[in-house]
Amino acid sequence: MEKIKIFSPGSVANVSCGFDVLGFCLDDVGDEMIVRKTKSPGVKITKIEGQKLPLDVKKNVAGVAATALLNNHPTKEGFEIEIYKNIKAGSGIGSSAASAAGAVFGINELLGRPFTSHELIVFAMEGEGLASGAPHADNVSPVLLGGITLVRSIKPVDVIKLPCPKELTAVVLHPKIELKTLHAREILKKNVSMEKAIQQWGNLGAFVAALYNEDYELMSRSLKDEIVEPMRSLLIPEFDSLKKVCKAEGAIGFGISGSGPSVYALTRGTDKAQKISDAMKKIISSIGIDFVIHISTINNQGIKIIPN
Ligand code: ADP
Repeated sequence: MEKIKIFSPGSVANVSCGFDVLGFCLDDVGDEMIVRKTKSPGVKITKIEGQKLPLDVKKNVAGVAATALLNNHPTKEGFEIEIYKNIKAGSGIGSSAASAAGAVFGINELLGRPFTSHELIVFAMEGEGLASGAPHADNVSPVLLGGITLVRSIKPVDVIKLPCPKELTAVVLHPKIELKTLHAREILKKNVSMEKAIQQWGNLGAFVAALYNEDYELMSRSLKDEIVEPMRSLLIPEFDSLKKVCKAEGAIGFGISGSGPSVYALTRGTDKAQKISDAMKKIISSIGIDFVIHISTINNQGIKIIPN
């Protein structure tokens, strides 16, 4: 194989009780990338369409992730990357993760798969480090493994793919306002009370058990964020009203996607998802903010090769 085309999907990280550890993969929104072998060694980004992002490999997460892989698998071959962005950078639905994961997935395929999908996480994380200041795996893991993932540790990388109940459907609202990850990180308090920590790990454990048992009631009771949401939700317009209407329309859970400004709701089946989407639309339209809504089943396959 000399060249491949890839669909690299968006993802929702944090997922309420799983700050920095949980993430799931979307199927209706993602970037496309073309990765091509070249004779001269190294990595080049030759084209980016859809958004203004740097072509410089040191300044683009795709270049940083690709370089991390090649530093661990020396080869005489080189690679050219084209990126067609559909996920807006800074939207909170894993724009940087899609590019970082896409680069390492594509190169690995062209090299004949020297690395497993789990092994690729560590290289993709390097790209994420460029975007947000510190490498993290909660977006790149669901993109590379598909479904819902839990990052137990990043040093060393230890990621578990969790079961994904078939009916689980996500509705993601992206209000088009600027919210920098850096700012969303800055407002977090450095310390957590024992009481809040106990609630959070109780909820996280229960959510994982609920996925294994397809127990939607328990999912609903456990998809809560006692620690980060109270601080970050203040940065998101109409957060409380959106949460209220989504719950009223049958959302199992509602919270911030990544570090925002996007919010997500999880529900059972597409009918309820449509109602939730309509309710979100009504509220966000009433305050005159431009937005996009994605309705998506959980993408259990994750990143994939598509026809050229
Ligand atoms: P998101 O959660 O949507 O990925 P982040 O704030 O974590 O948002 O990452 C976006 C940042 O990464 C922006 O500053 C953007 O310029 C930078 N970046 C560098 N390369 C890329 C890329 N290929 N795709 C998206 N963002 C990139």
